[in-house]
Amino acid sequence: MRYRETSKIVRLATRDAGVLSAIAKGALRPKSRFGASLQPLSDGVVEIYLSPHRELHTLAEFELTHLRTSLAISLERYTASVALAELMLRFAPANPHPESFDLLQGALSILETSPSEAVEVVALRMLWRMVSELGFAPALDRCVRDGTPIGAEGELLFSAAEGGAVCTRCASAVGVTRLGPGDRSALDALVDPVRELPELDTRHGRAHRRLLERYIRYHLADGAELPALQFWTRAETARA
Ligand SMILES: [Zn+2]
Repeated sequence: MRYRETSKIVRLATRDAGVLSAIAKGALRPKSRFGASLQPLSDGVVEIYLSPHRELHTLAEFELTHLRTSLAISLERYTASVALAELMLRFAPANPHPESFDLLQGALSILETSPSEAVEVVALRMLWRMVSELGFAPALDRCVRDGTPIGAEGELLFSAAEGGAVCTRCASAVGVTRLGPGDRSALDALVDPVRELPELDTRHGRAHRRLLERYIRYHLADGAELPALQFWTRAETARA
């Protein structure tokens, strides 16, 4: 974001120092040493003066290593990538967390190169993986309220607010989404990184995006606004 006349404040996901905010002084001046390198979703090596007692640090250098131009020219790839980055920047732990950093970087690279018909399921898989990496994996094989094992067959009663599957006894106490066998198996596959990605038609893809958004909103964000995630959820998917 812009800061005063000539500076920018940037939010950075770093591997060694976690997620932080830094001021890039003079970044908006025509001859700034940052040039045009401070672009959303780009990779680089940063030099930062850390202020131990302040929230805002100072960006000394940003050496751009990868400008993800193929994300910027496709609305679908871009909205999914920004939603992923938003999740990371909002919910990564305060301490350095290389696992989520590596996941974000890897996911952006996959989104750059996935065939266009796979972008939606890849994005769903990567967002669920990020949710899990940040410590909020949904429980799918036992009731999230009382631990009752959930049978592997049939429909799944899923509560976004509770954080996963609920048994029939608990279902009456909480709002549930009923997932038929097809949607249930697609969700299992999206959440499990070693499973093959499911195929989703437009209607089911949209339902899965909404389910994921609800899960994040209730379970991680506690109702707070997540504009990038909401935009991705509502965007029409362009399919051949
Ligand atoms: Zn239960």
